[in-house]
Amino acid sequence: MPALRLAPPMTLAVEGDSFGGPVDFGWTDDQVALRQGAVGFASRRLADGVIERDRDSVFSRDLWDACADFGLQGILVPEEWQGGGHDTLSAVAVLEGIGYGARDNGLVFSVASHAASCAGPLVEFGSEDQKSRWLPGLANGTSIGATAITEPDSGSNALALATTAVENSGDWILDGSKTFVTNGPIADLFLIYARTGASGFGGITCFVVPRDADGLAVGPAMDKMGIRTSPISQVHLDGCQVPGSAILGGVGSGAMVFSQTMDLERLLVMAPAIGVMQRLLERCVGHARERTVGSVPIGKQQVIAHRIAEMELELEAARLLLYRAAWHRTHSGAATRESALAKLAVSEAYVASCRTAIQIFGGYGYMVDYELERELRDAVAATLYVGTSEIQKNLIAGLRGLG
Ligand SMILES: Cc1cc2nc3c(=O)[nH]c(=O)nc-3n(C[C@H](O)[C@H](O)[C@H](O)COP(=O)(O)OP(=O)(O)OC[C@H]3O[C@@H](n4cnc5c(N)ncnc54)[C@H](O)[C@@H]3O)c2cc1C
Repeated sequence: MPALRLAPPMTLAVEGDSFGGPVDFGWTDDQVALRQGAVGFASRRLADGVIERDRDSVFSRDLWDACADFGLQGILVPEEWQGGGHDTLSAVAVLEGIGYGARDNGLVFSVASHAASCAGPLVEFGSEDQKSRWLPGLANGTSIGATAITEPDSGSNALALATTAVENSGDWILDGSKTFVTNGPIADLFLIYARTGASGFGGITCFVVPRDADGLAVGPAMDKMGIRTSPISQVHLDGCQVPGSAILGGVGSGAMVFSQTMDLERLLVMAPAIGVMQRLLERCVGHARERTVGSVPIGKQQVIAHRIAEMELELEAARLLLYRAAWHRTHSGAATRESALAKLAVSEAYVASCRTAIQIFGGYGYMVDYELERELRDAVAATLYVGTSEIQKNLIAGLRGLG
């Protein structure tokens, strides 16, 4: 057989516009201004005192309120309910700027999680009554939102949850326990996913439950490795009775609400990481130029220069995937594949970038005052929450009929 003939003939699997998807996006002047405004706000208001708050696991209500005044909590909430009414792409631009300027990654995670996983689904699936009752407070930050799907025996397999909701004369009685609930200790409002039918996609329903509902109890704050300024806890439901009007999106639609919310949350919680990586890159470049060993700047060592080039490559690749996923979601709604790709790329690049930064700073990078060890501790969580890296790969491969 001639060396250049391929046997058997190659089958091309690419269909339609699957060559990586659309690239037709660009920032408007308004979006650029929003991002710049976010950098200014975050570096003025959210950059001080983080070392102490991290050490003591302190959530700052003052800074939460400052974020709300700036419009972060209500970024996706339409103006009629006191929000900013921005689309996903604009929200990503703003949160990237916040990540760059703020050093309190835990606070930013709490805000992004509230905006994406509590306010977001209420905007998309809420009834008019639910929107007018809950959205203004969530948008102006007077109410703090949380989402509870994970349970002690169901994490990655979230839809295998055991919490039940049983109808009783028009009301619903919830029983079960949730764990790893971000904002749990401080939340006023919970979106709680419970089983209302047989196992499978149609057997889950999402309920909007206020903190003061009878039978709802919040566990003590859980101590954790990173994002320590974002409180997290268990939530217990013991005969917790809510009216039928607490159902979000209809009985049996919980899995659909959850999966669409995850598409959005992956983008909003990862956007600040792009800003953090940009900041780390700039710090590393500065350090590599200034730090001399044997009167030679360490940046003159090719091994250091290449590590920084790799940081930049991973940052830009992750950033483009994130922008494209946000563009996709803004213009065509669904973005499961795009948001999974972006979440996987950003979270893994985030950890790698923090790891490299510590190495480039040497022993200084290991010291708390240099604020790099905290960045690494914070970054590791990104490979776990909103679906682990393995689960993102399962999602991506699953859409190809694999796994
Ligand atoms: C900081 C933080 C904040 C969080 N906030 C919230 C929140 O607000 N609300 C909420 O409901 N939950 C929240 N979570 C929970 C989070 O979604 C789960 O931790 C995550 O889904 C993983 O579940 P798990 O911890 O039970 O791990 P497991 O599901 O037990 O997984 C353990 C390991 O096995 C791997 N694994 C499991 N199944 C598979 C599979 N099928 N294929 C390949 N690998 C697999 C995982 O990737 C992981 O490496 C949070 C978690 C963290 C760390």
